[in-house]
Amino acid sequence: MKLLENKVALVTGASRGIGEAIALKFAEHGANIAFTYLSSEEKAKILEGKLSGMGVKAKGYKSDAGDFKAAELLANEVIKDFGAIDICVNNAGISKDNLLLRLTPEQWDDVMQANLKSVYNLTRQVMRPMMKARAGSIINLSSIVGVKGNSGQSAYAASKAGIIGFTKSIAQEIGSRNIRCNAIAPGFIETDMTHYLKDGGAEKWFEKIPLGRFGKPEEVANAALFLASDLSLYVTGQVISVCGGMNT
Ligand code: NAP
Repeated sequence: MKLLENKVALVTGASRGIGEAIALKFAEHGANIAFTYLSSEEKAKILEGKLSGMGVKAKGYKSDAGDFKAAELLANEVIKDFGAIDICVNNAGISKDNLLLRLTPEQWDDVMQANLKSVYNLTRQVMRPMMKARAGSIINLSSIVGVKGNSGQSAYAASKAGIIGFTKSIAQEIGSRNIRCNAIAPGFIETDMTHYLKDGGAEKWFEKIPLGRFGKPEEVANAALFLASDLSLYVTGQVISVCGGMNT
């Protein structure tokens, strides 16, 4: 059974990793896909081709998620090209890890802009068309680190904790318009972002994970599919952990 037939989903940062897996999963379930990237032009083209090959409408937009004006432009273009935005996945994000004593103001600002301001930027834009349609699902990618904290990741953790507060507030603000807003908090997922963790041997990390392994992007995409679809019509303001049991 296809769960997103004829829906339009906008996914930020889908040229790689979790965003790409979400775009592919949604397309598999019949959604038309608008997605963004920042620098991975070639990967974006390949994804656009793959999605179109799955029989849905697909288009990649080069758009900096941290830029408010760019978000406004993006939402307008997607509405023009696709006619609606039913689902918005705020996935784009970066990590710049450093112990606080070495963390520069520039690193702090970069992380906040790409991870937290980005969520404000696009949510602010997609709210209006969703309110008009009296329906919508907004899904924000937080992190287990935003729930538990992590040494060396104060900026990243703060940005991801901020997303949780934002998500819960927006759920309360627009629930009456039948728009849902939820967050996903992944643990360690196998993408470029966590590649460096494997350098010192992945096993030492596995000890901290009850399921004993890193997660796969598709496993996060399955949670996103639930939140995007009518299976979660009575779920809003929640944080779903996809972390192999780390948050237990
Ligand atoms: P990734 O493999 O590093 O991919 C990041 C994606 O975001 C890329 O498509 C990148 O585009 C895009 N991006 C980065 N900055 C952007 C910007 N300013 N504007 C537009 N696009 C931008 O990361 P990932 O592991 O898939 O993570 C995806 C999300 O899940 C992030 O929010 C991350 O914090 C969160 N998360 C990941 C993990 C994990 O273990 N991997 C755990 C918890 C949470 P380009 O390719 O063009 O650079």
